Amino acid sequence: MRRARGLAAALAAALLLAGCAQSVDPIERLGKKAAEGVRPHGPAPDRSYRHWGLSAPLARPPRPTTRPLALGPRTGGRTLPRVVDHVPTRDPVVFLTYDDGAEKDPRFVDMVRELRLPVSLFLTDSVAGPGYGHFARLRGLGAGIQNHTVDHRALAGQPYAAQRAEICGQQHRLRARLGVRPRLFRPPYGAYDTTTVRAAADCGISTVVLWRAAMTPADLVFTRGEHRLRPGDIVLVGPDESTGPTLRERTTRVLRRVQQRGLTVGRLEDYL
Ligand SMILES: [Zn+2]
Repeated sequence: MRRARGLAAALAAALLLAGCAQSVDPIERLGKKAAEGVRPHGPAPDRSYRHWGLSAPLARPPRPTTRPLALGPRTGGRTLPRVVDHVPTRDPVVFLTYDDGAEKDPRFVDMVRELRLPVSLFLTDSVAGPGYGHFARLRGLGAGIQNHTVDHRALAGQPYAAQRAEICGQQHRLRARLGVRPRLFRPPYGAYDTTTVRAAADCGISTVVLWRAAMTPADLVFTRGEHRLRPGDIVLVGPDESTGPTLRERTTRVLRRVQQRGLTVGRLEDYL
């Protein structure tokens, strides 16, 4: 008897479960309604590119090719960070990098948001800090936060301990302030030696990032090779300068050059 009652209860429970599975969840139903509601109109055309000085929208970057870069040199049985100023890819993308972190223009945050612009910020604590809130906002929009030392000293020729303190120190600060563990490092002035690469490795850096193109107040200049943008180029949009065009203006100028070459902007961290 007890067994029969147990069976009946189990049957009832099974029916109840089946009923649940068949009914449409009220939240889901709401979601369907909302989706049906927007379908006839479609998304509003986004013309914000004009607002930022562009004559055409910035093309969405392709899904990045996942082929990993060759590893860096090996010494003493370990792999050292690679040093790159260009990413070998056929994707029609270049990468925008920003150094130091002096200019904290809230309109630049708007620009990054509205253009959905992938950017990588190499921050120096003595310049960017203590106002890390601005960079937290950019990070919230997908910006990569990377290491550019604690105090912007020229590293080449310095002893290992001094170089390590500059690089590891900034790793710790960026972790404490923004909760990030940078994998990319840019030495101040692009100046480094083998000690820099070793110290960077010991601080958890996988790649030392230089640049092939830089935006000066006049125009783009190239450190080597062809004097025009190519797919995979790493662009320094500007070390912060107290004179000359603002970060936003420099960014617009770079984007015009990028579009003239039929390219768009990719996310550096997807490739390195
Ligand atoms: Zn710098």
